[in-house]
Amino acid sequence: MKSKKHCNIPIFIPQLACPHQCVFCNQEKISATFSVPKPNEIAAIIDTYLETIPNSTEVNIAFFGGSFTGIPRVDMIAYLEAAYTYIKAGKVQGIRLSTKPDYITDDILDILEKYGVTSIELGAQSTNNKVLLKSGRGHKFDAIENAVSLIRKRNFKLGLQMMLGLPYDTLELSIQTAKDIVRLGADTTRIYPTVVVKDTVLEKMYERGDYKVLSLDEAIHWSKEVLKIFNASSVKVLRVGLHPSEELELGKSLVAGPIHPSFKEMVLTDLWSDILCEKLDKKGQSIIRVSNKQLNYAIGYKGKNRNDLKIKGYNVNFVVDPLLKDFELNVCYS
Ligand code: SF4
Repeated sequence: MKSKKHCNIPIFIPQLACPHQCVFCNQEKISATFSVPKPNEIAAIIDTYLETIPNSTEVNIAFFGGSFTGIPRVDMIAYLEAAYTYIKAGKVQGIRLSTKPDYITDDILDILEKYGVTSIELGAQSTNNKVLLKSGRGHKFDAIENAVSLIRKRNFKLGLQMMLGLPYDTLELSIQTAKDIVRLGADTTRIYPTVVVKDTVLEKMYERGDYKVLSLDEAIHWSKEVLKIFNASSVKVLRVGLHPSEELELGKSLVAGPIHPSFKEMVLTDLWSDILCEKLDKKGQSIIRVSNKQLNYAIGYKGKNRNDLKIKGYNVNFVVDPLLKDFELNVCYS
């Protein structure tokens, strides 16, 4: 049976709607959205999207970009009421939102439940207390654990986002964060390497030499290592890397950081390089079968893995096998 198509209607509520200030965040610039839509404006946004979405699609309204449950209660309810109208009319199947762990309480969850919210994504970012402190998150790991336990008692889908390369972070601490996200039972995650954005505290730390940004190679390597942990679990990875937007370009809002339009492809290329090195034990001619979805990643970004193997004496032909799952392969030597 063919699975139903999913589609999010994104409504960006940038930093103006967040009462907090993390050292790395300038949501206004990250989302490239400079005005916060008012609750009475979101119906027009939703209607515009719905006009282009086929009827058979499962549609979610997604409040992203700020700390949704940290905004004044009356505004939060006004946004939810506007979105809930579409759920009641059967035009939309769910509401997703992102927020900060310490803005989750039972009272807030009562409201989210009442207005048909189906999925909550928490910006966990790190599970290390020192990283959280240095990043100005304003809470410790126990706040993440507490929020997760409150959410888990109800029927919400849970996402836990993580960031790589925050102040004080190391590869080992990022790996621990990924393991904690798996242990906490998240349904989904997103992996974002830290970038330095203009007009943030992190920019000042970077200029003073108090913060060292990850290089592109380091960010690829770290992402690959945490991806391995998620791939071995039931946590679905929804995103790897920030989307470059027009605003997030060097010289504009981006001061420094590992951002690349093909970031995810480069991470998966690196992951496949490890898999291939482990599985290939005979030089010469071979056929490697992989799933359709993974074929380009196995061959590598700009053919990198195939070329690297050739230099090492492995002459590999990559072929699709629709029966194989992600990251599975069959090797046939000729
Ligand atoms: S909680 Fe989220 S939106 Fe608010 S400042 Fe931190 S990263 Fe930005």
